[in-house]
Amino acid sequence: MGAPGSPPADPERIAACARRLGEGGVVAFPTETVYGLGADAFNEDAVRRVFELKGRPAGNPLIVHVDSAEMATTVVLEWTDEAQRLADAFWPGPLTLVLEKSDAVPGVVTGGGPTVGVRCPDHPITLALIGACGVPLVGPSANPSGRVSPTTADHVREAFDPGDVMTLDGGACRAGIESTVLDLTSTPARVLRPGVVGADRIAAVLGREVVVARDPDRRGDAPARAPGILGPHYAPGARVYLVSTRGELDRVVEGLGPGVIALVIEGSGMGGRGVRAIELPTDAPRYAARMYAALREADAGAPPAIAVQRPPADAGSPEERAIWAAVLERLTRAADAG
Ligand code: AMP
Ligand code: MG
Repeated sequence: MGAPGSPPADPERIAACARRLGEGGVVAFPTETVYGLGADAFNEDAVRRVFELKGRPAGNPLIVHVDSAEMATTVVLEWTDEAQRLADAFWPGPLTLVLEKSDAVPGVVTGGGPTVGVRCPDHPITLALIGACGVPLVGPSANPSGRVSPTTADHVREAFDPGDVMTLDGGACRAGIESTVLDLTSTPARVLRPGVVGADRIAAVLGREVVVARDPDRRGDAPARAPGILGPHYAPGARVYLVSTRGELDRVVEGLGPGVIALVIEGSGMGGRGVRAIELPTDAPRYAARMYAALREADAGAPPAIAVQRPPADAGSPEERAIWAAVLERLTRAADAG
């Protein structure tokens, strides 16, 4: 199933991109989460180029993308029964599994660490691309390190030179936020990065406890073990403020001027009355799908600040609550980055 409005997979374009990857080149590919900056995961030089293009610190590991559970077995030391059950339940889909890596995976991919994050993306064009390459592809979000993730091919083209990065257009990303990252090497299993797939659904499949890692610096809880997700991230150029009430929004506008752009939830009554607002959908999946594009839109006119209405923490079904939690995590990081 394709992303809404996605162009049909063009076999010649996919073949050309596969050739580029085979030569050690870099290709941006669509997924259901965000666009990935792809390279052959077994080609060290190609992987180094991805770090270089993104300006990504070498210790921040890359997720390896596979077209099947069978291909996933080539990048891990042991493909466990738990991994297979999660793959059966959620792949192709936005769940990354962290397991001990196999010797085939160069250390540069994993930030020098002993584990690898692997997932099978839910996008027909990219599944065809990986199949044509016959090897797993690294695919960090296709944005300069620390900035807003790309959810359209145009976002990628704005950031990278076409001579460096060939972009495979698969339309707008359906889910719009990065995958859930789950560490299966620890007990209890640990969500290192929240995403569309919530801890409850994972626990139901595993039949054991799943905890959500917290940043030690922000919430004084168990240390987060996902390298690279600490500190500023997901940030537009303008300073981001999270606001809960119209009064708080007014104070940001009074302090920084009428150029402030507000990202508000449709029908919440937060916009209007002298505030320039971009409206976002009320339901969690559609909000998440729009969020990064809306942040970019708000940022485009170089406003003095972007004020984002804090999304509801506990609205809707368990699935929706998981998405709101993931959305809030990204917005909090964007706000921390200023
Ligand atoms: P990105 O591909 O830009 O969405 O970032 C991938 C993120 O996944 C990294 O920043 C890590 O937080 C996490 N990740 C990837 N591989 C591992 C791993 N082996 N162990 C822990 N976290 C990982
Ligand atoms: Mg990223």
